[in-house]
Amino acid sequence: MALWITDECINCDVCEPECPNGAIAMGVEIYEIDPHKCTECVGHFDEPQCVQVCPVSCIPVSPLFVETEAQLLDKYRRLQAAAAVATGGPAAVLPTSSSKPA
Ligand code: SF4
Ligand code: SF4
Repeated sequence: MALWITDECINCDVCEPECPNGAIAMGVEIYEIDPHKCTECVGHFDEPQCVQVCPVSCIPVSPLFVETEAQLLDKYRRLQAAAAVATGGPAAVLPTSSSKPA
């Protein structure tokens, strides 16, 4: 599942720079997570980094974006491929679907 930020967010700014996928951005009133970019940190870390740093624990999983570990890993691979294309650099060495996330 992707995560989402509840209205308990105090706009402390600490989660945004921690997201390895650039999925967190300031919204109209509080920070928001783009569910199409959030992999629950699968592919990067063992635990969601935003949840680790949020001082008010306002980042639960979203029941609207139910995804398996394999689907999250596929999303991670798509994001990495898109980033490689956007930067014009060589394609990233990506894990296969059977690979464990880092
Ligand atoms: S769980 Fe990870 S990928 Fe998702 S918003 Fe939080 S830091 Fe970003
Ligand atoms: S860390 Fe939590 S309180 Fe701070 S901006 Fe992010 S979601 Fe909001």
